[in-house]
Amino acid sequence: MLRNCTAWPEELARHYRRQGYWADITLYDMLLRSVAAAPDRIALVDGTRRLTYAELQIAIDRLAGRLIDLGFRPLERVVFQLPNSIEFIIALFALLRVGVIPVLALPAHRDQELSHIFAHTTAAGYIVPDLWHSYDYRLLAARLSGLAPSLRSVLVLGEPGPNQISLRNLLARDGGRGDSATDLADFAPPPDEVALMLLSGGTTGLPKLIPRTHNDYVYNCQQCGTIAGFNAGTVFLALLPMAHNYTLGCPGVLGALAHGGTAVIAPDAGIETVTRLIETERVTAISAAVPLIVNWLNVDSSRSCDFSSLRVLINGGAKLVPELRRRVELRFGCTFQESFGTGEGLLNMTRLDDPAEIRFTSSGRPISPADEVRIIDEHGNDVPDGVVGELICRGPYTVRGYYNAPEKDRPAFTSDGYYRMGDMVRRIDGNLYVQGRLKDIINRGGEKISCEEVENYILGHPKIKNVCVVAMPDATFGEKACAFVIPVEGQTVDLDEIKNFLLKRNIAKFKLPERLTVVNEFPISPAGKILRGELRQAAAGNVASVHA
Ligand code: AMP
Repeated sequence: MLRNCTAWPEELARHYRRQGYWADITLYDMLLRSVAAAPDRIALVDGTRRLTYAELQIAIDRLAGRLIDLGFRPLERVVFQLPNSIEFIIALFALLRVGVIPVLALPAHRDQELSHIFAHTTAAGYIVPDLWHSYDYRLLAARLSGLAPSLRSVLVLGEPGPNQISLRNLLARDGGRGDSATDLADFAPPPDEVALMLLSGGTTGLPKLIPRTHNDYVYNCQQCGTIAGFNAGTVFLALLPMAHNYTLGCPGVLGALAHGGTAVIAPDAGIETVTRLIETERVTAISAAVPLIVNWLNVDSSRSCDFSSLRVLINGGAKLVPELRRRVELRFGCTFQESFGTGEGLLNMTRLDDPAEIRFTSSGRPISPADEVRIIDEHGNDVPDGVVGELICRGPYTVRGYYNAPEKDRPAFTSDGYYRMGDMVRRIDGNLYVQGRLKDIINRGGEKISCEEVENYILGHPKIKNVCVVAMPDATFGEKACAFVIPVEGQTVDLDEIKNFLLKRNIAKFKLPERLTVVNEFPISPAGKILRGELRQAAAGNVASVHA
């Protein structure tokens, strides 16, 4: 296994294999099975473009050969920052096929996050679009090339900048290079090897890297797909960034491909687009998140829409309240499925045939019989059913450690390999119910914001003496960031000033605070700790406890 990653103990690995949780195939092999089953079936739809399974395989193999010709080698890391597109899937599988490890950055990430990712992964390549949502990724790549000594090749989807390589040329049938003579089989990775790295929405500053192996991620995609009822007739609509574990493999696009279905890539997530694609492509499954669902349900539904193809609408990333789950089923005429999981592994889903009470109120239950979920008190003892405790878990697709970060592993994993998910839950009859969080994270409709990271940036502002960033409730996103600041004596400061300051630091926009409250002091516990809970209450409207 790649150095600085933690493998599963051998005995457990044997068990997972014997029980069939690990199929000992790579993600590319998983795709090949669907190619072999129905080469002419449509695998991907993106606008007017439709790619069959056979065409997808040819495109992947061609690009894989050219990546090898360019000098990429197994186990090298490539930071992957493409927006949703057919090319995303082709390029991802091309890397996976030859054992080069894609590190899935989000399109929203900027210099701060990426320079950390490059430093941490010593990545040899970087794949970006030219322009996306008016942002020029070529300039970002040029800045990072100057900072990251490991970075050899920048591949650009669209018009490349100076010293950058056109991904389209590499994808083109003749691409000016002829087809690679490389025997790709020589580069096929072992199924126990790291396939890709996801980014964790961690508490402590910049993202941690989650190494997922072929074996564990194949199981992740297939098993989630089975529980969401995926089969060869599935038409999955991809709306959220595919760089997120949720839309990529839970079950996501990879789950649809694993089951021989079709993935339709939406240009945007507005209700008109979603409705049009459901009607024209006969979409059967959608993975959505709280803000999208809130918006969709608030749009006037006078036009009669044909949602008859839709079987399941999944919500993930943050909890959807029962009333909205019920309205989803009424409005879309499909089954609602709640998905509570994490990029580190564990996934819980309600089952399609659960009674309404469970579908509408619970956070689901583990997707695998081999998931070991414990709910513990502050002394590490299991709590009885119905009592709230901290969720810890291990299993065939939950990682045993982060990449190259032993100091991050220590607080995040128990000595016997359980991952501390950071959520407070209760379990009743096997179903989990998320009650809150242990960690200082703001969940902005599924995007996670580390309070500590944003506080560090704000502390760099010359007018700020101290800051505390907490979650405030929001009708659409569930939570947003609210900054409580103590200015330097004699100074005044407002939200716009802080936002402009943060934008200049080139951080992902979704992390910006959306309210700023100036205070003289923070509520402090007898032990001298800031009482974040009181600040959260104040942010929610109860200002009594804050000394403004
Ligand atoms: P990430 O690993 O970035 O996907 O974030 C995982 C975290 O998101 C979990 O530990 C939960 O705190 C939160 N989360 C994800 N899905 C749900 C859900 N359906 N209900 C409540 N919290 C969720």
